[in-house]
Amino acid sequence: MQHEMLQLIHQGYLGVELPQNRAKTAIFWLGMMRQIEERVGSCHVCQRHRNAQQKEPLQPHDIPNEPWIKLATDLFHFDGKDFLLVC
Ligand SMILES: [Zn+2]
Repeated sequence: MQHEMLQLIHQGYLGVELPQNRAKTAIFWLGMMRQIEERVGSCHVCQRHRNAQQKEPLQPHDIPNEPWIKLATDLFHFDGKDFLLVC
C-alpha cells in the first residue's frame, strides 16, 4: 500500500520538496517524508534534473518611473491550460 502511495506522490513532481508538500496535505504514515526522499534519491529523472529545479534568486531593483520599463514573465499550467504571466 505505501509503495503505491509513494508512486502516486512521486508522479508528476520532480525533486523532493513538491512531493513532500503535496503529501503533507493529504496523507501521513510514520517515516513518510524519509521514504519520499529515498524514492526521489533513487529516481534517475529527479536526480538528472535536480539542479534545474533550483529556485531563482530574487533580483531587487529600483522602482521604474514608467510602465513597461521592467518586466517579469513566467509560464504556468492551470485548469488544463497553459499560461504566460507578465508582470
Ligand atoms: Zn523522479
